[in-house]
Amino acid sequence: MPVQKLCTVAEMVRLNDYAYSMTLEAGEDLTSQISCGQFVHIKCGHSRLLRRPISICDWQDGLLRVVFEVRGEGTEWLSRRKAGDRLDVLGPLGHGFGLSAGKILVVGGGIGVPPMLGTAKAAAARGIEVHAALGFRDAGHRMLIQDFAEHCRSVQVVSDDGSTGRKGFVTELVEEHLAGACGGGEGCASCPDRPELPAVLACGPKPMLRAVAALCARYGAACQVSLEERMGCGVGACLVCACKTADGHMKHVCKDGPVFDAKEVDWDD
Ligand SMILES: Cc1cc2nc3c(=O)[nH]c(=O)nc-3n(C[C@H](O)[C@H](O)[C@H](O)COP(=O)(O)OP(=O)(O)OC[C@H]3O[C@@H](n4cnc5c(N)ncnc54)[C@H](O)[C@@H]3O)c2cc1C
Repeated sequence: MPVQKLCTVAEMVRLNDYAYSMTLEAGEDLTSQISCGQFVHIKCGHSRLLRRPISICDWQDGLLRVVFEVRGEGTEWLSRRKAGDRLDVLGPLGHGFGLSAGKILVVGGGIGVPPMLGTAKAAAARGIEVHAALGFRDAGHRMLIQDFAEHCRSVQVVSDDGSTGRKGFVTELVEEHLAGACGGGEGCASCPDRPELPAVLACGPKPMLRAVAALCARYGAACQVSLEERMGCGVGACLVCACKTADGHMKHVCKDGPVFDAKEVDWDD
């Protein structure tokens, strides 16, 4: 059951020119319920009625960490909080990533990177081999690489302009992981020599997720994606985040997601 409570800000750190890391004293009653890929809904001041959904980046011993970028009024207000301030938090909410045995490739693009850290950590704690492919716009947006390195067998970084990591898109890294030694191409999914395919878990902008899903379908890899639609209530009571699935049904991103099997998503919606 999600908990609604006032949480004290334990630490507020600026990660780069755009992103802030906020650690909250959320308590064991909240953190003991978290599974990777879930989010919290945070009230951003008395004047804003709607809470803001922010993914859970990490959690341990009653502490909960979120990482966010300033996008508008709510996140700007959040960025001005200091250690000792209290925040009204509702969570954990949503349906997160499913972890299966074998190899996992976590894929993050931009502000989709933070939830993949908690996912990598949870998977590594279960003895799963985790690799990370992270994409940023430029060096100014780079974040959390060291944190990923603590839990992942490999961490690869790309940026749009080449100012950090390799120049290119994160989808190129995904394709390299999926193609592995056999080189990929048509018919790769049925190639007897192909290496063990990782399950791909991704969060980022929708065009990136669409491309990752298409690659996984081509190579026959399992793929889960976290969709960050605009949302209202966060608990499935309103229709703000309703989206169409591939079989024509409507689902709430907040309650049924934010994580979906990539095959469930209607990528043209
Ligand atoms: C499940 C989920 C997880 C998210 N995790 C993160 C995260 O870890 N870090 C992070 O920086 N951002 C995350 N976001 C996006 C974040 O919620 C928005 O950037 C934030 O709500 C913007 O609020 P604002 O008041 O600053 O902007 P405004 O544009 O002023 O917000 C106006 C309204 O639009 C909604 N809104 C605006 N942009 C978005 C968006 N992209 N997604 C959903 N609602 C939006 C707000 O909730 C608010 O009701 C997540 C979104 C979802 C749905």
